[in-house]
Parts: sequence; C-alpha cells; structure tokens
Amino acid sequence: PLTALASARVDVMSALVSFERVFEVLDLEPLIKEKADAREVPEGPVSVEFDAVRFAYPSADKVSLASLEEVAALDSRGGVEVLRGISFRAEPGQMVALVGSSGAGKSTIAQLLPRLYDVDEGAVRLGGVDVRDLTADSIRDTLGMVTQDGHLFHDSIRANLLLARPEATEDEIWDALRRARLAELIESLPDGLDTVVGERGYRLSGGERQRLTIARLLLARPRVVILDEATAHLDSTSEAAVQEALGEALDGRTAIVIAHRLSTVRAADLILVVEDGRVVERGTHATLLAEDGRYAELHRTQFDAPAIAA
Ligand code: ADP
Ligand code: MG
Repeated sequence: PLTALASARVDVMSALVSFERVFEVLDLEPLIKEKADAREVPEGPVSVEFDAVRFAYPSADKVSLASLEEVAALDSRGGVEVLRGISFRAEPGQMVALVGSSGAGKSTIAQLLPRLYDVDEGAVRLGGVDVRDLTADSIRDTLGMVTQDGHLFHDSIRANLLLARPEATEDEIWDALRRARLAELIESLPDGLDTVVGERGYRLSGGERQRLTIARLLLARPRVVILDEATAHLDSTSEAAVQEALGEALDGRTAIVIAHRLSTVRAADLILVVEDGRVVERGTHATLLAEDGRYAELHRTQFDAPAIAA
C-alpha cells in the first residue's frame, strides 16, 4: 500500500495545474516531509527569502529532451536544473515581481514556497525560517495563491468561499465579495450565494472566476500572497476589475507577483527579470527602464503592446 501511495502521489503531483488544489483537495501533509520538531511561521508580517536556490525537477522522464545539450544539462539525479542560483528577499509587506519569458522558471519559484518541491541547494525562508523547518499547516495558513485558472469546485459560491475559512460569517462573505468586485453580480443571480458554479454549474467568465478566487483569498487573509500570471488571459475590461480586486488582496501583505502583462508590476518594490533559471536584472520599474536592458525590452514588447481595436 505504501508503494501504491507513493506512485499515486507522483501522478497527482504531475497532474496538478496549480498547487491551490493541493491545499484544497488534498491534505498537504502527506506530500511533504514535516520534521518531528517542525515549528510555526513566526507571528506578524512575514518576509520571503530565496537564498542561492538551485532546483531540478526530480525526474527527467516527463520532459522531452530535444537536444544533446539538454541531456548534458541533466544533474546527478537525472533532472534538468531549472533554477540556477536564485536569491532575493521580499521584506514584510513588500511586493516582489518576477518577469521574464515563458519557461524561465517563475512558476517553479512560486511552487517552492509551499514545498510542492524542496530545493536541491540553498534555502527558501518564510519569516526567516527555512520552509523545511516549518509545519505544513502553518505554511498553508500563511500562503495564498491566485493563478490564471481560478479553480472552482462544482458546488455553490458559498461553499467555494467557505473553503477558505469555514467559520466565516455571511457579513464577512459579502465583504470579501464586495472587495473582489463581485457582489453586484452575485446579488443579481436568482440563487445568490447558493448558485452552483464549476463544471456543469453557472458559467462564470474567466475574470469572474478569478475574482471569486480572489474573494476566497480575501476571506482566508493569508500573510503572503502569490499571484502567478493572474491576469494573463483576460480581456482589458476583466483585467481592470481583477486588477482592482488584486489591489485589495495585496494591500499590506507580502506579495510575490508573476506577470507578463500586469500594471501592478510597475509599483513593485523590487522587480526581478528571470531568464533560464537566473536573475539577470533587478531593480524598480524606474531604475530598470533607465538601464535600458532586458526589462526595458520586455516592457516595450509585452507591457506596452497596443491593444487591438475591437
Ligand atoms: P515560467 O513560469 O517562467 O514560464 P516554469 O517555472 O513553469 O517557467 O518552467 C521552468 C522550466 O521547468 C521549463 O523548462 C519547464 O518546462 C520546466 N518544468 C516546469 N514544470 C515541470 C515539471 N513538473 N516537471 C519537469 N519540468 C518542469
Ligand atoms: Mg509560469
């Protein structure tokens, strides 16, 4: 049975599109090894720190290797190293933005925080403590994530929200929905909070789905928020609404924001340009534009791409 469990775990891991589901569908504990003397994330505002992190996905068998160079890049365990010495620090309440081309390693950085995987070298710290020394419960309570999928369960809006905090009151639910710019829509539905969403339920648009996951985040009140390409697939009207909701979700929290096209990035305390598993540039929007390097180039091609007239 243990072997079956181990292989089931691998299947689950590889099938995951977002670790949100690990938190919500499965119990996180069996997925990571918690130390017997594991401690809680320290109280109060939390810093996030990556210290010379190197990481390769555990096995190369799901990666198609296109060239001999890629085979040569396999590390001793047969994995392709995707993070090659990542260091940065988000002070409590700060926003750090990660930008860079697809495949650079940004989502992988996000996945190391909840210990979906552990680093091979270096350390990831929450509140100054190595995540490997923390309890799974306290990591889960500290982190909140919004991805582009806005994953929902086939259940009522209320049930989807209560996942975040089962003891939340009706007032708290509506407050979160207002702040996520969703209250009006849900008030207009005949079944209100009891409207069933998800696969065969009421069809929410991509932007609405995301705002519902943001409402969930607002209810959960995590001290650290991770946004992974949160507005990547939205039209500009939805993006503006999601953007406002995100502003609420980020307020006062430590945030790691991964983005292609996201105006919040401009306001980040620190922007890292990630290429091929390394940080190739770092600074603020203003200093990076002045440097006229990779960020300025990305900014020209992605952030300022003219909207196609409808
Ligand atoms: P980004 O988010 O910047 O687009 P990712 O972190 O998703 O980049 O991916 C970085 C690299 O790791 C890519 O080469 C990608 O193919 C690889 N990768 C991502 N997820 C896995 C996985 N589960 N197993 C093996 N390789 C992966
Ligand atoms: Mg990604």
